[in-house]
Amino acid sequence: MLKAAVLGATGNVGQIFIQLLNGHPWFKVSVLAASEKSAQRKYSEAVKWRQTTPIPENVADLDVVSIEPKAVKDVDLVFSALPADIAQKVEEDFAKAGHVVVSNASAHRMDPDVPLLNPEINFDHISLIEEQRRRRKWDGAIVTNPNCSTSILTIPLKPIYDEFGINKVIVSTMQAISGAGYPGVPSLDIIDNVIPFIEKEEEKLETETLKILGSSQKPANFEISASCHRVPTLDGHMEAVFVELKREANPESIIAAMENFVGEPQKIKLPTAPEKPIVVRREADRPQTRLDRMVGNGMSVVVGRVRKDTALRGVKFVALGHNTVRGAAGCGILNAECLRARGYI
Ligand code: NAP
Repeated sequence: MLKAAVLGATGNVGQIFIQLLNGHPWFKVSVLAASEKSAQRKYSEAVKWRQTTPIPENVADLDVVSIEPKAVKDVDLVFSALPADIAQKVEEDFAKAGHVVVSNASAHRMDPDVPLLNPEINFDHISLIEEQRRRRKWDGAIVTNPNCSTSILTIPLKPIYDEFGINKVIVSTMQAISGAGYPGVPSLDIIDNVIPFIEKEEEKLETETLKILGSSQKPANFEISASCHRVPTLDGHMEAVFVELKREANPESIIAAMENFVGEPQKIKLPTAPEKPIVVRREADRPQTRLDRMVGNGMSVVVGRVRKDTALRGVKFVALGHNTVRGAAGCGILNAECLRARGYI
């Protein structure tokens, strides 16, 4: 078993890491780190546990430590679920100290020498680690997973991009409250309401999508415009996607491309890889957030309403994914499995 630390272990994403790593065949949580207010306390006392399953027994009694490399001893990898402003320096400190950091935070995602991995799509970007180590002269590494809405969008775009080419993407999101962390959006703001603004989200969706769908050296070259909205669902981001294609395609051939799509994680059978990255529903009223967010244990993207788009001369569809699983901790764990499969941990 490889030993893992979780930085930001008391937060929303940190808790999902702990929940998903419980019973993992390769990784065992052995160190938990959070802010000074939580450090030196037992995890079960420091955390406000908000998951539907109890705190795993092997972590409940661990003492929380501070987020410094010298406090995090004897681990094989480090998962980071820290706020971006804190992650910037802390993740670099861990990489300098020789740790491989698998991060959820946005701080390093767009650094040219940092892999931004959604592994079914761009597993090969992992090789950027070599460039990162050369440039930064450290033995560790930082590998990031995408912003939650980007994780979900890029999966159905990948087979379309490969088989038909893309000129333009327009996407409008309906994002769950859990995406804002805890306590997140005040209940008086979100109940009976939709908020048409999520800070920095549209920029992340637009830039990260091109980095992921491009090569490791050059972003993809198509136009993309996003509009992001917070809606009163708990988990699960829904996205209405409109694509202008390079080559004409009917909805049935788009559906076939999506249904046949598998990536490297499926081929090498990584433990967290869903059997099908994309599940297409043909009913007129699916996907639905509450019914479909846990498909593939929260790691599949469910697509529906695939139809011709006459305005963009292409295709339009609805995609749904679990924002804290495929969009955060689940993708981070899949990234760590990729790193192990390639011998980086
Ligand atoms: P969160 O619930 O606010 O949790 C933040 C965690 O960081 C807590 O463990 C907190 O510890 C710790 N922390 C905060 N300030 C700290 C400091 N100054 N020093 C040390 N530790 C500190 O946030 P979250 O929703 O889990 O998000 C974590 C990261 O994942 C963010 O970068 C976020 O953008 C990213 N992300 C979130 C989602 C999502 O769906 N929520 C999706 C993708 C990516 P204490 O409890 O001790 O304060």
